[in-house]
Amino acid sequence: MTARPPADDKPHEECGVFGVWNVADAAAVVALGLHALQHRGQEAAGIVALGDDGAFRAHKGRGLVGDIFSDAKVIAGLPGRAAIGHNRYATTGETAIRNVQPLYADFAFGGFAVAHNGNLTNAMTLKRELVQRGCLFQSSTDSEVFVHLIAISRCSTVLDRLIDALKQVQGAYSLAALHDGALIGARDPLGVRPLVLGRLHEGWVIASETCALDIVGASFVRDIEPGEIVVVDGSGPRSVKPFAAVASRFCIFEHIYFARPDSVVEGTPVYAARKRIGAELAREAPVAADVVVPVPDSGVPAAMGYAAEAGIPFELGIIRNHYVGRTFIEPTDQIRHLGVKLKHSANRAMIEGRRVILVDDSIVRGTTSRKIVEMVRNAGATEVHMRISSPPTTHSCHYGIDTPERADLMAANHSVAEMARIIGADSLAFISLDGLYRAVGRAGRDAAAPAFCDACFTGDYAIPLTDRERPDAPPAPRRKLRA
Ligand code: AMP
Repeated sequence: MTARPPADDKPHEECGVFGVWNVADAAAVVALGLHALQHRGQEAAGIVALGDDGAFRAHKGRGLVGDIFSDAKVIAGLPGRAAIGHNRYATTGETAIRNVQPLYADFAFGGFAVAHNGNLTNAMTLKRELVQRGCLFQSSTDSEVFVHLIAISRCSTVLDRLIDALKQVQGAYSLAALHDGALIGARDPLGVRPLVLGRLHEGWVIASETCALDIVGASFVRDIEPGEIVVVDGSGPRSVKPFAAVASRFCIFEHIYFARPDSVVEGTPVYAARKRIGAELAREAPVAADVVVPVPDSGVPAAMGYAAEAGIPFELGIIRNHYVGRTFIEPTDQIRHLGVKLKHSANRAMIEGRRVILVDDSIVRGTTSRKIVEMVRNAGATEVHMRISSPPTTHSCHYGIDTPERADLMAANHSVAEMARIIGADSLAFISLDGLYRAVGRAGRDAAAPAFCDACFTGDYAIPLTDRERPDAPPAPRRKLRA
């Protein structure tokens, strides 16, 4: 979220959405889908189900999907053949349950639930106007503006009300929505966040990523297109395109880090793309070394690509402990710094006496890199060369991925040479923007019409940052990066 009052406890970031229509045990299927999308948000999750009796029932909680929905009684309390769910990752303060999605409202036309992945850039501006018109906000998520805009719309059908609302919001959104007549999936005109349509037996699925289709045995039908609304009802899916067509700008960081490696996004298998990024990096920034070591888990495919291209052995020289709970490492800054050590340990046998190339996907604040380089040196590496499978992160994301303000972004404040010194590496290199574009299947970056949203590397914000540019916008709060 781009501009929010300091008291706003929960920005809305980095989420996963999943919905089903005409599927037996819909809530249980949604819980599985959310589990596969857990990487998109670990703070809280919720499901809203539509019963055969026409009643909507909801269950939400803080924590991981498995913890919230493992009790059979919880799922039994969500009967029906249609449901939507949401995973949430929030960045500051304590997660207030009122902010956990899906959001639900009883409108004059009936119940309506919505789950949002992305971030609206004019939510505060809209909220101010809506509050002046008498709307009573129940949460502090940007997503609640959808609910109020739909409520006050003068259009007659639910779909037209939704379209009316979407035409007023700016920002990134991939939505799953549910009312008693249909499951709806919608993507913003630039298609910043992913959203796919799947088929499950006689029913239909909408999901943030294909890995969530796989877990429930659904088949991939197609990506929901940028600017498209897909309405699934008794007669199957119907496509509506209410916006003027514009060139899409899918988030390139989904390819680098955010999407799960077994997902296929925008027609590109993520795992293969990450290996190609690593290979590009090896061509652009070669260095003599004995071993290529990924910073697990996200650095693994890029390190494999680098190692293969460079002809240097790949080894798991760092082992990740998967049982470090976020809640354990979050509470204080001191503990958060400890987090990296809790999470990663050096595999000395693979490192000692060797020249090591470390591959990670990004440097944000630099905390991880600094700790890892030190750890690898302490394990006996004779040289440590850091290679990063993204260009330097110089700008904050305002479209749904949690990044700190620029003041806290290492690459926004230091040259690459300075960064190398700060993290203690013998050398440091990032993939170029053109190399990245090549790895994800383009000829390079066309500056006049970039194929992706790459604002975090370029500052080229394709969607206006309306709230942020407001003269009375409150100062942006400092953010914590996911530990
Ligand atoms: P830092 O330690 O602040 O430099 O963060 C870099 C590390 O955080 C890398 O290892 C990335 O894999 C990871 N990372 C990058 N972007 C994000 C994000 N938006 N949320 C959580 N982790 C991230």
